[in-house]
Amino acid sequence: MDFQLSAKLIASNYLIPFSKRLSFLFYYFLFMNYHLLIGIALLVVSSATAQEAPLDYKKLSDAERLQAAQKIAQTTIMVDGHVDLPYRMKVGGFTLQREILDVSVRTPDGNFDYPRAKEGGLDAPFMSIYIPAGNQAIPGASKALADSLILMTERLAATFPEKFAMAYSPKDIEENFAKGLISLPMGMENGAGIEDDLNNVSYFYKRGIRYITLTHGKDNRIGDASYDTTATYGGLSEFGEKVVAEMNRVGILVDLSHVSDHTFRDALAISKVPVIASHSSVRKFTPGFERNMSDELIQALAKNGGVMLINFGGTFIDSAYASGANKVREHVVNWLAENNLSRRDPEAQKYIQDYTDLHNPFPTVSRVADHFDHVVELVGIDHVGLGSDFDGVGDSLPTGLKDVSMFPNLFAELLKRGYSKEDIEKICYKNIFRVWQAASVYADSQR
Ligand SMILES: [Zn+2]
Repeated sequence: MDFQLSAKLIASNYLIPFSKRLSFLFYYFLFMNYHLLIGIALLVVSSATAQEAPLDYKKLSDAERLQAAQKIAQTTIMVDGHVDLPYRMKVGGFTLQREILDVSVRTPDGNFDYPRAKEGGLDAPFMSIYIPAGNQAIPGASKALADSLILMTERLAATFPEKFAMAYSPKDIEENFAKGLISLPMGMENGAGIEDDLNNVSYFYKRGIRYITLTHGKDNRIGDASYDTTATYGGLSEFGEKVVAEMNRVGILVDLSHVSDHTFRDALAISKVPVIASHSSVRKFTPGFERNMSDELIQALAKNGGVMLINFGGTFIDSAYASGANKVREHVVNWLAENNLSRRDPEAQKYIQDYTDLHNPFPTVSRVADHFDHVVELVGIDHVGLGSDFDGVGDSLPTGLKDVSMFPNLFAELLKRGYSKEDIEKICYKNIFRVWQAASVYADSQR
């Protein structure tokens, strides 16, 4: 129920039916004795509550709907499958030896920090333990980087225990949520961290990793990547098959974002449990962009019982973004040259800002909602969730969805399109929890 919404909303959903019943109460008052009246009044009140129709969000004004969306965001557990904060800290020069990036307070850049997460109602951003493909060339470098990013994430939770907490299961997230803490579950982006040793799968499980994205930008030992054109194995490698089986066995979710279509199909065919795509969107809106999922793959993932978590990055949401952004970039480069200015000059900064605002290439929240609609139309509401890629897609995010404080804008748009509160809950956590639990149950059965 949404009693804290506007007076109009309360009147339309609660007070009017109740006041109608008051006239009946009046008649009873004439004929019945006092005790009976109390009993009947209780009955009437309880039936008024029981008969209350579910909110029709489509009938609300935009302002009321946003308020309703904010309320849902604040009261529902919200999991985001992919936030690149650890790497943002790393790139910012923050190491274990030095001060960590203080995201317990508002930060001027990036898309994630504690105050903004609280505003948006985000409760459990999966921290991406991201290993660039460049590390694959140096033996041991991928695992070493993964280890350091895990330590960094743990240190963040340990430094601000009143704000953040580690989380290794849906139950941990529920408990942290009850305490008002933001959970920091971890996923490893690029299976290269396993190096050539299958034992590292259980090692990373013990270190708290709960999903592994099989590849990143380039083919690795496990299989082929969507951004690569080499087709080293034509899909999943033999080693990759063993890795998937071992991930199933220990209870690490198989993440098929970033893999090639062939790797996707191969991994799906052998996984004993539902899989995820931690930050992938719908290819229909970005034709030819293999990093997003085709309808065929979305249907295959649904058949497997898995979930795809929608990426908000501009290039993932609309192919018009890439061409629009290129045009703006070209114009800016030419303008800087013509005026003999550098990007850092205040005059240039103002011009770039104004020009970008005027020729805004960014997609809208509505376009992001189109991705949810498409998945729902294709396979239903049980296979879609949030995988923003915040802190990982630079300045390409949609207008109205620029950081973690803005999730309610997306929910308001979905409510406008007829999604229910229950639908939003599935998107926020029920779908990913279902998949995560299925993987855990299978792993328990193998011990
Ligand atoms: Zn990624």
